[in-house]
Amino acid sequence: MSKSDSPHAFLSNPKVIENYALLQDIGVVQYIDYLNKEIQAYKGLLSGAVDIFNRTSIGDIMDAAVWQISDHFMPSFIVFLWRPLQNKEDVTIKGYRNYKEVNLPIKIDTITPFEGFFQQHPKPIAYKLFVEQSENSHVSQALDAVQPELIAPIQGPSGLYGLILVGRKMLADNYTPDELDFLQHLMSFVSNAIQNHLHYEHSVRDFKTGLFNHGFFITRLNEEISRSKRINYTSSIIVIDVDHFKDFNDSYGHLAGDRVLENIALVIRQNVRSEDIPSRFGGEEFTILLPDADKNIAWRVAERLRTSVANIKVTWDPPLPPVTISTGIYVFNKDSNVSTDDIITRADEALYHSKGQGRNCSTLWRSGLLFKIEHGIKEMTPGISY
Ligand code: GH3
Ligand code: MG
Ligand code: MG
Repeated sequence: MSKSDSPHAFLSNPKVIENYALLQDIGVVQYIDYLNKEIQAYKGLLSGAVDIFNRTSIGDIMDAAVWQISDHFMPSFIVFLWRPLQNKEDVTIKGYRNYKEVNLPIKIDTITPFEGFFQQHPKPIAYKLFVEQSENSHVSQALDAVQPELIAPIQGPSGLYGLILVGRKMLADNYTPDELDFLQHLMSFVSNAIQNHLHYEHSVRDFKTGLFNHGFFITRLNEEISRSKRINYTSSIIVIDVDHFKDFNDSYGHLAGDRVLENIALVIRQNVRSEDIPSRFGGEEFTILLPDADKNIAWRVAERLRTSVANIKVTWDPPLPPVTISTGIYVFNKDSNVSTDDIITRADEALYHSKGQGRNCSTLWRSGLLFKIEHGIKEMTPGISY
């Protein structure tokens, strides 16, 4: 819009001023006012959408939606009920009051019974109407404790992702149809943002273990190599292979083996920093990229993992024996001058050395020499020279 087209230019045009009474009489002024309000509402919706789409975790997406709803309606509370897709029966509940997370008295184990209703009415609806129209009255009982004013579905291609409950407005007037429309738009942004997030997660994660996948690991490793060349920076990788896992599968079955791999993945996740990249390299092999971690840190992580894995107790019938892992560590910085393949090959060499030494141990790669510390008996001390 050029300056001369702006509403201000129009309203200050001498001819408009001259005919103002007529324009007001036939409703043009009110219409402009109405259009201005609509524009403001769409601008608000657009900035809400941008905010929601910029979030990278489901918790953050919800926080952004809470912010938008709170700004718009000032409701007495908001509750999100969210069902993780991998685990259809588990419900995460997050309550908010005045933009802050609070505990609200809702106990609900599943949102599955709401699916049927919202498949037929995929829109926000007054909670009272929902209770009247829902054939399944026990469905709503769990929500009655908080007395919501509105209930809205968060729907996606895979069904109902979650629900949002909105309390009455603090300033007490009822929700208007326009406000329900606003909420509906917002919910569709939320479900699209969730969908984007899920697509992204599926593209970078291994389905069975939830760790990063091979492709993502290599991408991040390449980035880390470039970074270590630009700045004085030491990073490490650890490769892990489960010992005698073929025998384990042969004795206890593939399903028991799968359960063990899931447990190892959990131990790996619990023992690395948020900036590390733990991944499933394939089969029963795992890799961890540790940015900004020298040999002492990498060593300690590898040994902590090795001892923690040996202590995993998997509930299974018949009871399972402990499994062990072998690890190989490679450390690189700007002086190493290595490619991605070199790094993986060297870490693998260290791993094979661990295997050759009887397994259940860690080896650190160093030019022409491999250092093995047997069964974690010798702790590597910081500052030790190699
Ligand atoms: P080593 O100590 O030398 O590593 O012996 P290993 O038996 O672990 O080595 P090998 O490479 O011969 O066998 C790997 C086994 O891992 C074979 C395969 O059955 C098992 N495996 C690979 N991926 C999976 C999986 O996703 N689930 C299960 N249960 N087993 C797997
Ligand atoms: Mg293997
Ligand atoms: Mg193995």
